[in-house]
Amino acid sequence: MKVPATLILLAVMALPASASEIPLPRPKPGLPALEPLAVAMVPLPRKKPGAPVAEEGEPFTTNPGRIDWPDNLASWSKKEVGAARAECVALLGELAVDWSPVAPIGGPGRCGMAAPIEVRSIAGTDIKPPANLNCRTVAALHHWIATELQPAAKKKLGVRVASIRNASSYACRRRNNSRSGKISEHAFGNAFDMSDFEFAGGKQASVAGDWRGLFQFAGLSKRGGFLREIRQAACKHFTTVLGPGSDSSHGDHFHVDLAKRRSGYRICK
Ligand SMILES: [Zn+2]
Repeated sequence: MKVPATLILLAVMALPASASEIPLPRPKPGLPALEPLAVAMVPLPRKKPGAPVAEEGEPFTTNPGRIDWPDNLASWSKKEVGAARAECVALLGELAVDWSPVAPIGGPGRCGMAAPIEVRSIAGTDIKPPANLNCRTVAALHHWIATELQPAAKKKLGVRVASIRNASSYACRRRNNSRSGKISEHAFGNAFDMSDFEFAGGKQASVAGDWRGLFQFAGLSKRGGFLREIRQAACKHFTTVLGPGSDSSHGDHFHVDLAKRRSGYRICK
């Protein structure tokens, strides 16, 4: 449709008047108007983890100086506690972990941890109930959850893992709750037991219920396949991985730990 020349002329004449009503000059016509919105939509730099900042409802914090370490040293020296805490900040400083410091427990050569932490979420995956662990174990869990567990859940089941059921974390006890024998890695916060993996949406894979069975044996259980994959992958991140079939004590959960062995030997069975 042809626009009458008089209408075009009127429109052009109206331009300066309407432009003069705009309070601020627009150096880049079209773009500046978007700037306030664009700034508002750019996500703020993600805070680094460390201690939680409750007042902001933000699970991660960036400033290790804000970590409110308890004063109590238990039977540890100030140097040992300081070194363990510095290691925590170094290990967890860049990881998505929601944690709080806990007072030192026990002392060298026996049950305890120089820098225990309570961990509520690792790599966006809730730990239920929260676990008391040392920071090396939490860092290893983070790497396993982020690079193995969540990708396996997505690939095998098309979902993400919302939470992991904590079956045992720190516990001053001997292996397999025996009355004699070696002290468990749990007694150093160096081990974590998991019994169930709850998916977003509410379903779950349980070690007790989804490991054994005809479907699992035939490789037809997706949840069974998921459990097998994450258990096998845990051997890359931990020095000990146990579960159903390892022994009579691990039929209903996976145990992972960071036991130190002189030869670098790993137990993955
Ligand atoms: Zn265990």
